[in-house]
Amino acid sequence: MNGADSGYSDSYDIIVIGSGLAGMTAANVLARDGQKVLLVERHYKLGGLATWFWRGNHQHIFDISLHGFPVGMIKSCRRYWNKEIADRIVQLPAIKFDNPQFTLTTTFNRDDFTRLLIERFKIPAETVKAFFDTARDLTHYDSQEMTTRELFDRFFPNRPDVVRLLMEPITYANGSTLEDPALTYGIVFSNFMSKGVYTFQGGTDLFVSMLREEMKKNGVDIATSAPAQRILIEDGRVAGVRIAENPPAVDVPELGGRSFPRSSLLGKTIRSRAVLSNGNLLGTIYDMAGKENFSESFLADAQKVRLNNSSTQVYMALKPEETLDPDVCGDLLFTSVAPEFDAKLLLSRHITSRTYSFYYPKTRPGTDRHYIVASANADYNDWASLSDAEYAAAKNDLIETTLDALEKYVPNIRGKLAYVEAATPKTFKDYTAHWGGASFGTKYEGLAVSRSLHKQIAGLFHAGSVGIIMSGWLGAVNYGMIAANDAEAFLTENQEG
Ligand SMILES: Cc1cc2nc3c(=O)[nH]c(=O)nc-3n(C[C@H](O)[C@H](O)[C@H](O)COP(=O)(O)OP(=O)(O)OC[C@H]3O[C@@H](n4cnc5c(N)ncnc54)[C@H](O)[C@@H]3O)c2cc1C
Repeated sequence: MNGADSGYSDSYDIIVIGSGLAGMTAANVLARDGQKVLLVERHYKLGGLATWFWRGNHQHIFDISLHGFPVGMIKSCRRYWNKEIADRIVQLPAIKFDNPQFTLTTTFNRDDFTRLLIERFKIPAETVKAFFDTARDLTHYDSQEMTTRELFDRFFPNRPDVVRLLMEPITYANGSTLEDPALTYGIVFSNFMSKGVYTFQGGTDLFVSMLREEMKKNGVDIATSAPAQRILIEDGRVAGVRIAENPPAVDVPELGGRSFPRSSLLGKTIRSRAVLSNGNLLGTIYDMAGKENFSESFLADAQKVRLNNSSTQVYMALKPEETLDPDVCGDLLFTSVAPEFDAKLLLSRHITSRTYSFYYPKTRPGTDRHYIVASANADYNDWASLSDAEYAAAKNDLIETTLDALEKYVPNIRGKLAYVEAATPKTFKDYTAHWGGASFGTKYEGLAVSRSLHKQIAGLFHAGSVGIIMSGWLGAVNYGMIAANDAEAFLTENQEG
């Protein structure tokens, strides 16, 4: 085993395509269990959406999706990674909301939400308890049909303020709407409510480097800048992966505007008995495997799979001498100027809702810098249809309107900034190849399609954001493990020789 970026074998038990959290977790678990694993990633960096970037000649560092995840991440990291990684997961104590209906601070767990709902929103204690118990106990079998809207109508009729408190963070976190199944809302909400919101102390750069070390220790061969072009299929079975001749043509400011480096695997075909794709589900089916390899009924189901929404982000680095006020900003601040919660408004180019992540030196102990990342949900089509000039102007507008909005929480923000930059749905697409720049893969109907890939093509598995439960940091890690188990069972049943 090589475990480095060069000196690869001609064949593997399994090739994992994509180094998002699901792909890396699957690769790690499979290698730890003795499978010969190659992990190929099209970007020159590991992590997928769980990544970071430098600007200003390595003066400023920005995390893309390190905003908060449920406590379950500690257990999952301990099980599928190691204790050192799990031990760095810490709680974000101050989650704030500010909108026309309420302004409050919470630790974002069941006890504190119960207190708020009873004292502040004047909901009877028994209703609050019944809501939490129902959300926790929702299962696949008894509540497939109930929508999240119906769930709220049942417990909090005519209370748009309560719906906003309970729904806005979840919609921000994974794009879900009131029309999605209550089951998916209930699982994610209950995951967070069990103990609040957590983060990784040390930043995504440290997190991913620890994941890489663990994969190397377990013998995963890792190839970055190695885009899988085609999954080879022979007689209805996976036979390997062809790596594209050229890495993606993305100019990376972090690399001084140069494009991705070149991997020694470019243009090569590597054989394998199984493939686990961590790429976008639809990209896996149509771009990498080829629709000619699937049955008509499977393709009919695949066509019904909706992509999840994308995002915009504005990354801000404060000057070294400038600081943020934690009492005003908190760790995570959900803001909106819309009169009421409206999932459609959350996607509009005319942004009314922004979520700010405030990063203090405690995020990366040893540094003294403060950063802000403003995120908003977005629709890819609003950005993809713009001309180059319109796109540049829209990005600039995104930055300026964000700074205007932020002035309320960080006065004189413009004077305090050392660096600012924006990312759009197009950015997310360019860097991850997710169709539509989807931040959370596909809607929930993608799960059944993802889980049945191997019934269509022996040895083909998928793990990555599909549906609300299998998205986000925790969902991706857990789905990576689930798909690894499936792949392992297949490999064991189909031993060579
Ligand atoms: C702006 C934003 C904020 C977010 N905030 C949070 C948050 O606060 N909390 C949270 O829990 N989650 C958050 N998320 C979501 C979370 O980051 C993702 O759900 C999770 O990281 C997705 O992991 P994944 O395994 O599905 O793969 P992804 O991260 O989507 O990675 C897929 C990988 O596959 C690679 N790939 C694709 N095609 C190929 C190919 N042909 N060959 C080789 N490699 C390929 C891509 O380059 C990528 O590295 C956020 C997402 C975004 C975009």
